[in-house]
Amino acid sequence: MDLSDAQESRVDATVQFARARLSPGAREREAAGAFDRKVWDEAAQFGLAGLPLPEAWGGSGLDAVDTMLVVEALGKSCDDGGLVFSLCAHMFASAVPLWRSGATDLHERYLRDIAAGRLICANGTTEPEAGSDIHAMKTSAVRDGDGYVLDGTKCFITNAPVADIFLVYAVTNPGKKMFGISAFLVERATPGLRVTAEHAKSGLRTSPWGTIYLDRCRVPAGARVGPEGAGAALFSESMVWERGCLFAYYVGAMGRSLEQCVAHARSRTQFGHRIGAFQSVSNRIVDMKMRLEVARLLLYRAGELHRAGKRCDEAVALSKLWISEAAVQSGLDAVQLFGGSGVAMDTGVDALLRDAVPARIFSGTSEMQRAIIARMLGIH
Ligand SMILES: Cc1cc2nc3c(=O)[nH]c(=O)nc-3n(C[C@H](O)[C@H](O)[C@H](O)COP(=O)(O)OP(=O)(O)OC[C@H]3O[C@@H](n4cnc5c(N)ncnc54)[C@H](O)[C@@H]3O)c2cc1C
Repeated sequence: MDLSDAQESRVDATVQFARARLSPGAREREAAGAFDRKVWDEAAQFGLAGLPLPEAWGGSGLDAVDTMLVVEALGKSCDDGGLVFSLCAHMFASAVPLWRSGATDLHERYLRDIAAGRLICANGTTEPEAGSDIHAMKTSAVRDGDGYVLDGTKCFITNAPVADIFLVYAVTNPGKKMFGISAFLVERATPGLRVTAEHAKSGLRTSPWGTIYLDRCRVPAGARVGPEGAGAALFSESMVWERGCLFAYYVGAMGRSLEQCVAHARSRTQFGHRIGAFQSVSNRIVDMKMRLEVARLLLYRAGELHRAGKRCDEAVALSKLWISEAAVQSGLDAVQLFGGSGVAMDTGVDALLRDAVPARIFSGTSEMQRAIIARMLGIH
């Protein structure tokens, strides 16, 4: 894709910034599984907490393609995959629905601080008994005078241990199934809301996650985001942003891993030859290259459709599915190609694999992306 001068300078600036400010110390943070608020603040000051949010609220006002370019640049240059994941969850699954569907007074109260990263957001959809089947969610929001009372449990929630605001999906009308789900903004200090941290993850380790407990948690009616019953539509729109833009990170990371593999194949010698001279090694790299190129095409095709305001659910599902599966396979290939040093954590070679495995699960599993594509094909 040919970049405009503005796009190129934004990408270059992001790469320089991430290398200089976000990558130092990332390996130690990852080994410790530690989120660092100072690094978050620095990323946010650079603009990475509000890429698609309107400039009027302090965001960068980027469309999907320009957002993808910045996130891909982070994949190329930022050693802290968990931080990028947390920033993306904050923007795409939480801030975007608030911006797109929230009332003006919610915008005025929160959006500027969210775009600046002063407030961290989390989105609470998944429940212990409602993962892929989100419409089976049990968390309830019962109208009570001028507010709603929320009860339920949300698990695996990215950013929950450090979040200031939660976008929580709850059932307002059980009889209406998916049209009976609504979204609410809940401040962390709201009585009845409690958060516990989940166990450490194997990948994206610097991104904290947790469980949210809502126990007679009362919110004003004005905390509802969008009309009653619009929760599922809001969630779907946010998933188009997240499945589209977040996965640009893995495209950048695959490109970076490919470069490392090429350099290693050219320099490592065994049996008196550079290992790249062995076809089973070079073929592996060619397959990595092919996966990467297809990933980039699918990603930016989805981005272009989104930018043009065209229907893009299928393109986004194809892009998410391909990128997450390709990143896992290419992550495995990179480890294999580096041999023993591929699994030594200090080299960072296995980071792509560890960070990519959860990508086949969050934002809708690979199986659910296949189900979306099959539905679009009219199979069921
Ligand atoms: C790193 C990470 C971060 C996350 N962050 C958040 C967050 O911020 N907010 C949030 O709400 N959630 C979050 N999640 C949760 C995530 O959305 C769920 O894990 C995901 O939707 C799958 O749900 P589940 O874990 O309950 O698995 P299940 O739905 O129980 O699925 C188990 C397996 O069964 C398969 N399966 C289920 N139904 C079908 C079907 N109909 N057809 C074929 N296969 C099927 C699945 O594909 C999967 O392989 C996060 C998850 C991860 C890994």
